[in-house]
Amino acid sequence: MPLSKTFSKHVTHPRKNVFVSLGVGLLFFLLFLTIATSVTWHKRDQRNDRLANYTGQFVLQTFNELSQTLSPLLAWTQSQCSAVSSDLTARAAFTSNVRAMLLVRDGQAFCSSATGAMDLNIHQIAAEVDWDKNIDITLVPGTPMLPEKPAIVFWLKDPQHPRSGVLTTLNVNLTPWLLLTSREPDIAGMAIATSRYALSTWNARVVESSALPASPLRTLTLPGYPIHILLYGDTLADRDVHMILLAAVLLWVLASLSTYLLLSLRASPGKEILLGIKRGEFHVDYQPVVNARTGETYGLEALMRWTHPTEGRIPPDAFINYAEGQNLINPLTRHLFELVARDAQQLSKALPKGTKLGVNLSPLHLNAPEFRTDVQNWIAAMPRDHFSYVFEITERTMVAESNAEAIFDWIHDRGIKIAIDDFGTGHSALIYLEKFKFDYLKIDRGFVQSIGRETVTSPVLDTVLNLARKLNLNTVAEGVETAAQANWLIDRGVTHLQGYFFSRPQSPDDLSAWLALQQPWPAFVELSKRG
Ligand code: C2E
Ligand code: CA
Ligand code: CA
Repeated sequence: MPLSKTFSKHVTHPRKNVFVSLGVGLLFFLLFLTIATSVTWHKRDQRNDRLANYTGQFVLQTFNELSQTLSPLLAWTQSQCSAVSSDLTARAAFTSNVRAMLLVRDGQAFCSSATGAMDLNIHQIAAEVDWDKNIDITLVPGTPMLPEKPAIVFWLKDPQHPRSGVLTTLNVNLTPWLLLTSREPDIAGMAIATSRYALSTWNARVVESSALPASPLRTLTLPGYPIHILLYGDTLADRDVHMILLAAVLLWVLASLSTYLLLSLRASPGKEILLGIKRGEFHVDYQPVVNARTGETYGLEALMRWTHPTEGRIPPDAFINYAEGQNLINPLTRHLFELVARDAQQLSKALPKGTKLGVNLSPLHLNAPEFRTDVQNWIAAMPRDHFSYVFEITERTMVAESNAEAIFDWIHDRGIKIAIDDFGTGHSALIYLEKFKFDYLKIDRGFVQSIGRETVTSPVLDTVLNLARKLNLNTVAEGVETAAQANWLIDRGVTHLQGYFFSRPQSPDDLSAWLALQQPWPAFVELSKRG
């Protein structure tokens, strides 16, 4: 049987469980996201540092070696080209990446490793070169012999002679670097930049440095060389972000599901009821039933209460219905009997002998094989000869149980009275009034509360009360909340009254204290003063 709606609302809170589970999942999601992102970011950051260092070291080493190779050539800046050109050619040939080495005297390149003697102002080769600097580096879109191929121009000054030195053009090949970083998803490219020009891995041509994208990942300066190396990319590549997000979402789903399972297992309502019995979470409140003629306390109705440790008070309508559906009503009623027997000592001191004690019984229990022993055990546990008992049974019971008559006879044989509870809320109620032997008819509070509010219900109630009088049945009106309702009912011959107008259901302690002070009921005294 599906969980009773009310019960599930109060105990299992499936919606609450879903929210809690999703919340826990979200926590895992966020935690994972934060940790994974920062760990990955940190790892990538360290790798980028290593890559930048490596690149920087490599370029620095290249320039250092080049400077060393070129330094001896400075001695030739004042020589004749014919005297040194073959040496120059050999030097260039054995130095990697060199396109040409030019000897410069007084601003004029006069000897080339590639073409021998020449006469060309070096600013015609590289306009930017500053011959007053010991070392200057610039980029050119091409050289006279390879006008389409960008080159690095490296100037090494002859400290002895003004505007003299060695001007070397170098091939720039960034492909090896690209290969090196091809496995780094977060590295998009790199650029070599001088103050004016730049060459990048994504453009075959030299561009203005200002045209480079802003905010590179790393900017490296090489000590002693007027050149920068810039690394571009994201510390967290899209691929990383996607992977982390995917894993985090998976974790969310998993954590939510596990939490939900755990919660539903833990809060299995059936188990909760049995646990509640074991842990003593149930207690009984007692609501007085008042004699409509004298105003004296005629009896008590025992009403079960459940205070769940986390859910708080759970209405009996909810857990009783559920217990009936889950076959737990019998242990629950046995527990009720135990609790009532425990309270009975105290109650018997506060109430006179013969006080009626009403308990609500489920039709399922009534028909169970252990019902009779349960009742006998209970009566045996109660104070001897103090209370007389009333079993409150809804009319649903009579519809369901074929051997209801036999059970009723058995109950009556033990001197126990039977009240038909919630009268008027079931079907064909009137038939049962004749068929079964009841002692009390409890008028449902739904009827009572419509008194004075709905003109339509009162005639029905009138008819029922007339019938009850004719059948010589005691009538208990439950849910009496106002003096007007009480008056109306007393005027129509209702024999007993029960409701908040007199007293709410109370614990034995509260009830005993209350009873000691108010006999007969002040509310009733007020009533009896009316004309
Ligand atoms: P019921 O047998 O009709 O019990 C009367 C209900 O009306 C109680 O609700 C009581 O607190 C409430 N009531 C009494 N006077 C007033 C009033 O003036 N105004 C209003 N609005 N309500 C009033 P409670 O305690 O919530 O119990 C609800 C139902 O749960 C009971 O209806 C009964 O069917 C069931 N129940 C309670 N305890 C037990 C139990 O121990 N065993 C079984 N089988 N059922 C129980
Ligand atoms: Ca009742
Ligand atoms: Ca009722």
